[in-house]
Amino acid sequence: MPRRRPVVPRGAMRLITIKDLVPAVLLAALVAGAASAHGQDTGLRDQALDAAVDMFEQALPALGPVEFGVDVAAYRDALTLQRFRSGVWGAEVAVVLAQQDDAGGSCARFAAFVRLPPAQGSVKLVLCPRFFTPGADDLRVLTLLHETVHVVAGTDECQAMAFAARVEQAATGRVTPVDAYWAASGCRGSQYRLPGNN
Ligand SMILES: [Zn+2]
Repeated sequence: MPRRRPVVPRGAMRLITIKDLVPAVLLAALVAGAASAHGQDTGLRDQALDAAVDMFEQALPALGPVEFGVDVAAYRDALTLQRFRSGVWGAEVAVVLAQQDDAGGSCARFAAFVRLPPAQGSVKLVLCPRFFTPGADDLRVLTLLHETVHVVAGTDECQAMAFAARVEQAATGRVTPVDAYWAASGCRGSQYRLPGNN
């Protein structure tokens, strides 16, 4: 049998001094700070998810089985159970909520984005720093309703905006104005319509 190397090098076996402790204490404080910031984010995320589920459930009686090409039952499963089966992807897909801490890549432009197509049975919905902007409660809910369309149905921006607006309108009787983004995304000539814009 080969001799095992000692786990702790002999040089490290010495008394810990106050000087050694200072960086350790600082590091512990930083880690605690990061943990509480992340905890707040998780709270905001869960609040937004609960509110999005509530809004969708309020809208549900007014929705058909398919709205703007979105399978409503699959959408409901994706939003509420984070697991769904849709004709677009075939097999059952799990929704994984992830968080990106920096504003690089797609987070430079969006509050959240979805990595498509699903890989190895799961699709990642990434929440960006902008998602957690203080006071943006309504934006968070609308973002989750919008991104869940991408999760279930694919990359079409016009479809995602139209479906999310349909849910908002059916649940609350009003819609968040998205006309500028609608126009910028080239949706005026698309097959989709925003509520009230026929
Ligand atoms: Zn989108």
